[in-house]
Amino acid sequence: MSGESSEESYYDSTRLEMENKILKDTIQQLKSQLDILKSTPLMVCEVKDMFEKEAVIKVPNGNEFLVNLSEGMEKLLPGDSVLVEQRNLNVVRKHTNSKKTFDVEKYVIVEKPTLSWEDIGGLQEQINEVKEVIELPLKQPELFKKVGITPPKGILLHGEPGTGKTLLAKAVAASTDSTFIELVGSELVQKFIGEGAKLVKDLFQLAKEKSPSIIFIDELDAIAASRVEIGTSGEREVQRTFMQLLAEIDGFDNLGDVKVIGCTNRLDILDPAVIRPGRLDRLLEVPLPNKEGIKEIFKVHTKDMNADSLHSEKIASLMEGMSGADVRAVCTEAGYFAIRENKTTVTHEHFLDAITKVKKEDDSNLGHMFG
Ligand code: ATP
Repeated sequence: MSGESSEESYYDSTRLEMENKILKDTIQQLKSQLDILKSTPLMVCEVKDMFEKEAVIKVPNGNEFLVNLSEGMEKLLPGDSVLVEQRNLNVVRKHTNSKKTFDVEKYVIVEKPTLSWEDIGGLQEQINEVKEVIELPLKQPELFKKVGITPPKGILLHGEPGTGKTLLAKAVAASTDSTFIELVGSELVQKFIGEGAKLVKDLFQLAKEKSPSIIFIDELDAIAASRVEIGTSGEREVQRTFMQLLAEIDGFDNLGDVKVIGCTNRLDILDPAVIRPGRLDRLLEVPLPNKEGIKEIFKVHTKDMNADSLHSEKIASLMEGMSGADVRAVCTEAGYFAIRENKTTVTHEHFLDAITKVKKEDDSNLGHMFG
């Protein structure tokens, strides 16, 4: 009997010891969680300048401070991100997950276009001007040195959507064997909140690395619209991005092998700063094609089509008022009308049906835009 009770008390004390240990562990865990919750969050700052034992850091509100660095701090470089205590601006460590590692190539389109001038219908005047302003200085910079003039750094193409602005830019990239780097203004503004200026900086760096190159900024007005007032932080961010763009354009050489082609449908709202002398000071309108132009564009897009007995004159008259993009859409649609009838030859009637369809779509798009 007494043997049993000593065994019981032995088990009781072991159980209590175990419970005690579990409770102690739980308290320890809760304490460390509490510490985490109580600790103030660290601030992500940018290193602007480095000295031997000090650094200039920029805090998120834009102010800059000179701070001491602790002995064991890893090597920092201007542009690095660091985590900083909010209370005393003590630099805790380098922020390795920083956007410093972000790869600009992931966010822009980089290609070597193969498009030729012959792929552009009409626009002869515009082609000549682009050749003179972009192609010639890239191909023969010495000519400009001999004559003693500086060519423009870039060009601003403006005009209605779908008139061939992107085509012109790609064709000149192809004719000069340049890398074509495309950035869309509205995407820059929507996707890169807080990173726009850095992206622009890296973009120009990339263009230098991959030179000769053409930087093509589509929808430039999204970054470079003139603003009456800059109130929200989003607007300030766009303004910063724009300032960086101007600084980059100012910073490169007229006779270097990077050129900028800006593109907009809204010349009316563009900030004049971007077209000041020395920047994108060559303005080139790319208008809707006239009837001759439409015929030329039609020729380009039907070149490889298996089409039969077309009355091009009639088709062109029916397409008057359309953009080059519309003309292409008509050709594709006409092909589809043939396919739907199980035919491999596209006829005049298919084109007529396609014109009606594209016009209807254009009208309904306009209807959506204007209520
Ligand atoms: P957006 O202002 O909307 O960017 P854009 O002026 O840059 O338009 P593009 O992208 O060059 O227009 O044209 C769209 C498509 O329309 C082209 O890929 C091409 O197929 C056709 N196109 C437009 N203009 C012409 C043209 N002059 N010659 C041949 N094709 C054209």
